[in-house]
Amino acid sequence: MAGLWVLSATSRVSVLTSSPYKYRAIVSSLYSISNNDYSTSSDPKKHYDIVIAGGGMVGTTLACAIANNRVLEEKRVLLLESGNKQNYHVQNKYSNRVVALNRQTRTLLSSIGAWQHVEAVRYAPVKKMQVWDACSDAMITFGEDHLAEELAFIVENDLLLYAINQQLSGKESVDLVYGAKVADVLIPSKHCQNSRITLQDGQSIETKLLIGADGVNSLVRKKMGVQYVGWNYEQMGVVATVQLSEPTENIVAWQRFLPGGPVALLPLTDTLSSLVWSVSTVQAKKLLSLSDEEFVDELNEALWKMYPKDGMVEAGMRALGQLLEGLSLHSGVTRQLQPSIGGIVEGTRAAFPLGFGHAASYVGPGVALVGDAAHRVHPLAGQGVNLGFGDVTALVKLMTEASRNGAVLGDMAYLSRYETLRQRHNVPTMLAIDALHRLYKGTAAPIVLARSLGLQLTNALPPLKKAIMQHASDRAL
Ligand SMILES: Cc1cc2nc3c(=O)[nH]c(=O)nc-3n(C[C@H](O)[C@H](O)[C@H](O)COP(=O)(O)OP(=O)(O)OC[C@H]3O[C@@H](n4cnc5c(N)ncnc54)[C@H](O)[C@@H]3O)c2cc1C
Repeated sequence: MAGLWVLSATSRVSVLTSSPYKYRAIVSSLYSISNNDYSTSSDPKKHYDIVIAGGGMVGTTLACAIANNRVLEEKRVLLLESGNKQNYHVQNKYSNRVVALNRQTRTLLSSIGAWQHVEAVRYAPVKKMQVWDACSDAMITFGEDHLAEELAFIVENDLLLYAINQQLSGKESVDLVYGAKVADVLIPSKHCQNSRITLQDGQSIETKLLIGADGVNSLVRKKMGVQYVGWNYEQMGVVATVQLSEPTENIVAWQRFLPGGPVALLPLTDTLSSLVWSVSTVQAKKLLSLSDEEFVDELNEALWKMYPKDGMVEAGMRALGQLLEGLSLHSGVTRQLQPSIGGIVEGTRAAFPLGFGHAASYVGPGVALVGDAAHRVHPLAGQGVNLGFGDVTALVKLMTEASRNGAVLGDMAYLSRYETLRQRHNVPTMLAIDALHRLYKGTAAPIVLARSLGLQLTNALPPLKKAIMQHASDRAL
């Protein structure tokens, strides 16, 4: 890949395109002054106000949001991404990796100017959601009374990253380096007030504030030594781009809870949807090995198969229905029939392991975690990256306050407030998602009854539904 690096008048490095080779060449010339006594390093080229490890969707947005902020725009930021730069070209074929972004995330992306690049290419609005149980008649819908309003936005991951990078490329204060894997981190101690980051090629950098945006297996988190609670669901999310059997005004996100895991369809176009189907690891491997036709048959069965209904569950649901009717709380919402799948776009099937993870602490002196580095959730609620974007908004807010008040960026008082703010939102969200996963795994009649009554009752109580939507939109800041 051809690479072009531009040195600005202030000797800062701006990357237009790069390769690891070019990166090494430039960095060694920039950092040619050997300085092994890092604790007293005063070489400005080795020191940044903020270093962000991980140039995924969350880390890149954070870099952009800092550079876009009037109070923080002067801060020198280094964004380190271990992967190579991916050139983005709009293709007719949709990527099989998409995310459902909530309205708060859209606001953040608009505020940094990235949303306009998404809009210029493509996204699909979700105006209604229908979630239902395969083992009962319980169902919940969102958005049906305000179809003009968007509940979520389906965007391809690579387009989103491209859009954020488009905005970042004009920012002088941010140096973005690809092929730069963080190999070691020294957290501030009494000997050194800064964090020291060593890259795989031996280069090292110091910073007042190190931010770990380096994903689920975050090295920064490990080096912080914080407690991390995590487990695998022994499930994989099978993704694909699928063709609907007939064109439709595709504005509904569908999710059916099956005993093996939820199957979800997210709109892309009038004829295409994006599939996220959570199944056991064994089942995922089987689904990946089927022919396209066999896969489509399995998927239609997952969407349509009638499961035997338990008499106790049916009776309980009937009683609740009568009670709600008597209280004039019947939602009046009729069930919309889910689409059938006519085919699959060739070569779009893939599977990703699913797990839960949460860092007991998101911060330490001069260090903070954002995004999947701090928390990982099951995709059944489409919340993962939205939680990460919520972290970005909160962290930038607290850094701005710290800067305004003359505090150093890594000041624990401000970082702790970031942690409190985010954990107050993230922990209940994550526990609710995990509880939903567990609740819907069971097929025993009392469990099916309990969840069906809960779902149906929630559906009948508009204020509760509104509260759920508001929480999912991350308005907790
Ligand atoms: C099947 C599936 C469907 C999903 N659907 C949704 C959805 O609809 N809505 C939603 O909100 N979320 C969804 N998610 C979750 C979402 O994809 C993640 O939350 C999101 O990708 C996390 O972004 P991140 O930037 O925090 O981490 P990552 O995307 O993991 O980025 C981390 C970056 O850090 C880099 N890195 C790692 N280690 C180092 C290192 N040592 N040095 C330098 N760089 C490093 C990596 O190369 C990577 O670029 C889904 C997840 C799955 C698996």
